[in-house]
Amino acid sequence: MKVVVVGAGPAGAATALLLARGGVETTLLEREICFERTFRGEGLMPSGADALLQMGLGHLLESIPSRRVESWNIWMDGEEVFVIPEPTEELGARAMRVVSQPALLRALVEQAARYPSFRFEPGARARALLRDGPRVAGVSVEQRGETRELPADLVIACDGRGSAVRHMAGLPLRLLPEQYDVLWCKLPTPAALEGRCAIFIMVAAGKNPAICYPSWEGRLQYGLVVRKGAAVQPDGGEWVEELVQSAPTWLAEHVRAHRAVIEGPRRFSVLVGRAPTWTAPGLLLLGDAAHPMSPVRAQGVNLALRDAIVAANHLVLALRRGDRALVDAAARAVQAEREPEIVRSQALQRVEAAGEVEARNATWRYRLARSLAPKMAGYRWAQKTWLRRQRGLRHGVTEVRRDPAAGW
Ligand SMILES: Cc1cc2nc3c(=O)[nH]c(=O)nc-3n(C[C@H](O)[C@H](O)[C@H](O)COP(=O)(O)OP(=O)(O)OC[C@H]3O[C@@H](n4cnc5c(N)ncnc54)[C@H](O)[C@@H]3O)c2cc1C
Repeated sequence: MKVVVVGAGPAGAATALLLARGGVETTLLEREICFERTFRGEGLMPSGADALLQMGLGHLLESIPSRRVESWNIWMDGEEVFVIPEPTEELGARAMRVVSQPALLRALVEQAARYPSFRFEPGARARALLRDGPRVAGVSVEQRGETRELPADLVIACDGRGSAVRHMAGLPLRLLPEQYDVLWCKLPTPAALEGRCAIFIMVAAGKNPAICYPSWEGRLQYGLVVRKGAAVQPDGGEWVEELVQSAPTWLAEHVRAHRAVIEGPRRFSVLVGRAPTWTAPGLLLLGDAAHPMSPVRAQGVNLALRDAIVAANHLVLALRRGDRALVDAAARAVQAEREPEIVRSQALQRVEAAGEVEARNATWRYRLARSLAPKMAGYRWAQKTWLRRQRGLRHGVTEVRRDPAAGW
């Protein structure tokens, strides 16, 4: 049986690799001709590192450009109030890191290219779905100005949050209430942070929260969280001042001093939700196409890699048997297994984001937290409590394992 995977992001590249490894004839389509994009998800949690280990790709954790995260540093009103060290020793190969997503995607596609059943088509955009009665029977592809038909027994849509395939299939997306934008920039890293990777979460009463960290290539990735559609004009002159509202003075001065070389800002519209149904006959949605995530605690890449493992566990043998009813049932089983983790992760992200909203609104809860945080900061139990509260977002909520009997 033939599979077409639409979109070579983390979900699509990993799924295509695992299916091809299982001997399934797999074509991976990607509308872009290269993987380079400055702003992509970079945070690999222990759950994402574990997914690569499950796929037998642990060596990529060392070979792709990355940095291990050393700590989370919470700044309130310009003061560092709480530093939580990452348990890197304890986590070993599963330690949290920021990685080059383009390098990860290239490596996944290179691995897949070792299997004769795999074909990669960059610069190929899925434009329409082919139909055989109620069944999706492939895609119509536009490449180099030409359109052709690519028949398939199963189309797997991994084409991201705005999934065109999801729209074409008429599968709705149920949006959750989180609605905000993130302005992402990259700039030189301040000397105080060079050679380290600390993630700064910066909040201040009545101001927009921000996050920054030295990225895998040594530059500072800086994100400002703003209300949906809020007018922060890159050309209006004042945007750099908005960017640094909640930053400590030394960092704000650094950003201002490097204003001329800041790359961005790029506005990223946060869309959080889930498709109630991830499948139709001949079709499966995975990754952001099925469940766009908020950027809180870097979930998107990690969940996409975990989706790929579960999809391969269910689909490989069904596809090899050549029975469409079995394939459709396997696709439904993927949603049934993955949905509980997605629902829980989105709920946990909402809890984490609530603190930032309290700060922006300068509520009494924020003021209370502001006064308590420095008093608790030195205690190891307080740091452990912070990490434990986020266990689901760091390690995953459900167990995702390669099934040794799954044929890949
Ligand atoms: C600035 C930014 C920062 C982020 N930070 C993090 C983070 O730190 N950690 C984290 O885990 N997540 C983060 N995310 C989210 C993360 O990048 C996504 O959740 C993750 O990439 C989803 O993977 P995916 O494969 O489902 O979709 P995507 O990565 O969106 O990949 C979809 C692919 O499909 C292709 N495509 C789309 N339409 C078509 C078509 N019609 N035909 C062919 N190809 C098509 C696209 O070009 C793209 O390559 C961030 C996202 C952004 C934008």
